[in-house]
Amino acid sequence: MGSSKLIDNFGRVHNNLRISVTDRCNLRCVYCMPENVQFLDSKELLSFEEINAFVNIAVTRGINKVRLTGGEPLLRRDLHKLVEYLSKIEQIQDISLTTNGMLLTNQAKALKEAGLKRITISLDTLIPDRFQDLCKRDGLEQTLEGIDAAINLGFQNIKLNSVCIKGINDDEVENLAKFAREKQIEIRFIEYMPIGANPWEKAKVLLAHEILEKIDSAISPLIPAGNYDPMAPAMEFIYEDGKGKVGIIASVSKPFCKSCNRIRITAEGKLRNCLFALEETDIKPFLRPNLNAEGILKALDYNISSKWPGHQFNTNDFIKPNRTMHAIGG
Ligand code: SAM
Ligand code: SF4
Repeated sequence: MGSSKLIDNFGRVHNNLRISVTDRCNLRCVYCMPENVQFLDSKELLSFEEINAFVNIAVTRGINKVRLTGGEPLLRRDLHKLVEYLSKIEQIQDISLTTNGMLLTNQAKALKEAGLKRITISLDTLIPDRFQDLCKRDGLEQTLEGIDAAINLGFQNIKLNSVCIKGINDDEVENLAKFAREKQIEIRFIEYMPIGANPWEKAKVLLAHEILEKIDSAISPLIPAGNYDPMAPAMEFIYEDGKGKVGIIASVSKPFCKSCNRIRITAEGKLRNCLFALEETDIKPFLRPNLNAEGILKALDYNISSKWPGHQFNTNDFIKPNRTMHAIGG
């Protein structure tokens, strides 16, 4: 079995794998997915055993960080069992989860016991009616309970993800930041990207500098954090008074493609070397009915070697992928 790293044609080393465990969701956030979706049949999803087999091979090529996502990953029954499998893989140094938090209250303990280290919870509004408008379902209370459950269980590294869109929830940046500061957790604002079902307009993107200005004037000045990971997508800031951290994922105004170290696998086993990739590499034939490790390695190499320098959504050449975010794994 090969042992070289996953290095693309631009010298980027890939150690970070995002695993989507389902395309289903209990919300319908307008920036992410359409209301009516033909979801994958459950037989099409990779089983936990298949995901585990894949990760065991990917680690021989340097993958050492995994994030579980979806769709809503907590809709996948017994997700903690997958966490348990992955936490037994020696090379994996970091297992994290991105969730909308709605089902976290009941699952957080089992996930922690299984070895989950970090949780990121998405929260775009603190106004119940707006939650309904933005996510097309009721759920703010459940999400807030999920956040508290994670805090009370002592998860060390809880983060909030917020997508703020002009004219929709950009007036909540300050309150969301205050909420996170009071809870003593980090909040990350993600610039709105063209990957959802609704028509994207650049004019609606609340840009990194606008987010920072709002927080600076409403709460406290922010200063760049000293020692953040340059490979990480978020620019990190700390409040001048030392009480809290804010991250900005400026995918639109300051793309981080040059330092991208991520690959993704969709719930049905398609490798994607970019969120915005137009081509995928199917690995299911190498997992089902029998494991073919050589095939998986070749598929990984092929996928990485065909990675482009970066997404094009600031240019006229941008082509929106067929999949919306929920079916990719954000
Ligand atoms: N359901 C889980 C959740 O919401 O956290 C995990 C999957 S969701 C696709 C992962 C992240 O992608 C969420 O934080 C969500 O806000 C973000 N996201 C979805 N669509 C987006 C878009 N068009 N632009 C920026 N971020 C987006
Ligand atoms: Fe579901 Fe997450 Fe997409 Fe919202 S952002 S619709 S919670 S997958």
